Amino acid sequence: MQELRLRIELVPPPLWRKNLRSYLTESRWANLREAVRQVADFTCEICGQKASRESGLGVNAHEDWRYVDDGRPATASLIRLGCICTLCHHVHHIGQLRNMIASGEAQPALLDRVVEHFCRLNGCDSTVFEQEERHAMQVWRSRANRDYVLQWGRFGVLLGDRVATADYALIPTGGQKAKGETAYTSPWIGKIPLPITDGEHTVHVIPLFDSAKTRGATKNATVVDLLAMERDLSDAAISAARGMWVGKTLAQFAAAASRG
Ligand SMILES: [Zn+2]
Repeated sequence: MQELRLRIELVPPPLWRKNLRSYLTESRWANLREAVRQVADFTCEICGQKASRESGLGVNAHEDWRYVDDGRPATASLIRLGCICTLCHHVHHIGQLRNMIASGEAQPALLDRVVEHFCRLNGCDSTVFEQEERHAMQVWRSRANRDYVLQWGRFGVLLGDRVATADYALIPTGGQKAKGETAYTSPWIGKIPLPITDGEHTVHVIPLFDSAKTRGATKNATVVDLLAMERDLSDAAISAARGMWVGKTLAQFAAAASRG
């Protein structure tokens, strides 16, 4: 079979809804999702298309899970978060799209568009798509009755399973909590990417705040970790990035960002 740029990746039934999106609070996931989208400049990392209002194409944060089926128990590991477009997402989860069409939630024309996207990107015809779907279904069925152990890796921090508060900086947000909102609002939040570099790699960190200040601080540090992991930053750079958050007010943060 030819090497495919875009593949079908069906989530095994025992792992449905066992993901960051389901386990995080809504506002936390929304902030994280937004950070992933911004860092990727709203561009799909698979097909390279940018989100646009004209074309109606959106981009989303995508959880990249690896399954190891030959161990006992089998494991599912969250490797990274990426930014992918809605069409690539539908290819990954083609079973879900078929269900949505069956229930009238999506139009059949969307499936045609998705198959076309698969074929264009992989430089193939629809027989390759059919082959890929059969193969994916086979794998999916073989995983249906397995027990999986979830491995969150560094993402575990987000779920609070190994948060050492002392390791994280508390950041005075200075933001105002708008009426009826769960997150602080401020002109800076989610908007200023601060470049952090170790000389070889650069990541851009975006300030995010949760409803509670302490949790917000944890999240900021965590976002540094996530982005560092994405770009393979050195430990020194990660420490430096963490240090940048300590005791910074938003105004200082903004000044640092504009200098960078
Ligand atoms: Zn795409």
